[in-house]
Amino acid sequence: MKLKGRTALVTGASRGIGRAIALALAEEGADVAVNYVSSEGPAKEIAEQIQKLGRRAILARADVGDFPDTFRMAQEVLKEFGHLDILINNAGVTSDMTFVKMDHASWRKVLAVNLDGVFNCTKAFIDQMIRQNYGRVVNITSVIGQIGNFGQANYAASKAGVAAFTKSLAKELAGKGIRVNAVAPGFIETEMVAAIPEKVQHRLLDQIPLKRFGRAEEVGRAVVYLVSSDGDYITGAELSINGGLLM
Ligand code: NAP
Repeated sequence: MKLKGRTALVTGASRGIGRAIALALAEEGADVAVNYVSSEGPAKEIAEQIQKLGRRAILARADVGDFPDTFRMAQEVLKEFGHLDILINNAGVTSDMTFVKMDHASWRKVLAVNLDGVFNCTKAFIDQMIRQNYGRVVNITSVIGQIGNFGQANYAASKAGVAAFTKSLAKELAGKGIRVNAVAPGFIETEMVAAIPEKVQHRLLDQIPLKRFGRAEEVGRAVVYLVSSDGDYITGAELSINGGLLM
């Protein structure tokens, strides 16, 4: 097991990619704090699955877009686990519309969770990681942050912001035992992709060289690679998992 004795927090772990990452970390031996904002039932189920694997799991409810709430959650997680080794900033939302129709509320909603959320969570844990001279941070970005998308100016901007944040932090923290990387999924089979109209899904599949959407588990395994000793020479990277959509 690659992560035995490590502690991790995954934001947005109640479903989709975050859920798969939480389970992948636990399968490799990590204790996991399961963050969610509203899906308490599904989050409890993930925690139970992690416990069945013989790991510790705690529920860590917080709106990552809200700094005081995130800070409170971080204190509770640190009290419970004693320390945090691995932070996965995965929570994300969309609010798609063309820029002409996009109002300030839609812009703020997406930026608050996707970009401020990464700042808030990282800020809440980083001093402790620096003190222990060990930390692994993985931020989930998106191919949309790399290429832009019709109707997703808010989302694309938030993810491009997270990618730039990742590189800056990687440079600042490399000498302190902390590696900071990003994973940029393409289109992955989750509720987010299920919400795309079927016609558009077919059009997307035409553009993906591997001719299928990705699986959340495939992202989970990439995250394990980056946070384990297998990834010890990797920092500041944005690993694409997109079936060849962007190359
Ligand atoms: P999803 O199925 O919609 O799940 C989103 C998760 O984020 C849920 O656990 C949700 O918790 C949580 N969340 C939402 N707002 C939150 C907040 N304010 N505070 C804390 N947690 C919050 O999403 P997904 O498709 O798995 O995507 C996960 C990440 O991958 C996102 O950052 C997304 O942008 C990125 N991504 C996804 C794809 C894709 O194809 N699916 C592609 C590229 C990148 P609740 O259940 O409690 O609401």
